[in-house]
Amino acid sequence: MADTRPPEYMPASTHDLSPAQIVLTAVPDDERVWVPQAPNVWFRPLMLNTLAGAWCNLLRVRKAGILSRHRHPAPVHGYVIKGAWRYLEHDWVARAGDYVFEPPGETHTLYVPEDVEEMITFFQISGCMYYVDEHGEHTGFEDVFTKIDMCRKHYAACGLGAEYVDQFVR
Ligand code: FE
Repeated sequence: MADTRPPEYMPASTHDLSPAQIVLTAVPDDERVWVPQAPNVWFRPLMLNTLAGAWCNLLRVRKAGILSRHRHPAPVHGYVIKGAWRYLEHDWVARAGDYVFEPPGETHTLYVPEDVEEMITFFQISGCMYYVDEHGEHTGFEDVFTKIDMCRKHYAACGLGAEYVDQFVR
């Protein structure tokens, strides 16, 4: 039967998403939602996009934490929510409220300055993180699939259950 509803009453989306997949509290109340990544470095998955090969997450780094040197083959967009951070390779400092664009080909090492207790930044990352040593030699990588695996392992171990990650996967 033809749908005779006026256009303004037509479904706004054909995607089968639950309300919790559309709007969620970004900085979680439950500490277990943060996935450990390195000493003093965690990420909180928000949207793990297996179709576009991309992901959105919060990155949290506490004093003395370092996100190893990596190269981006695709663009990254960031928004600093709390604290401040720097790249060893650049002079500028990203502070709460700043937007950061990392163009393809950019290679850098993220760290939190001594006087900052904690930073939290939203990142949208496309493609992969291509980890390199100080000579630019390849040492490893992360993509949306390795991120999902990390989440699965952590959520299984912390008691949330491996399937906890599924709500973030598209
Ligand atoms: Fe980066």
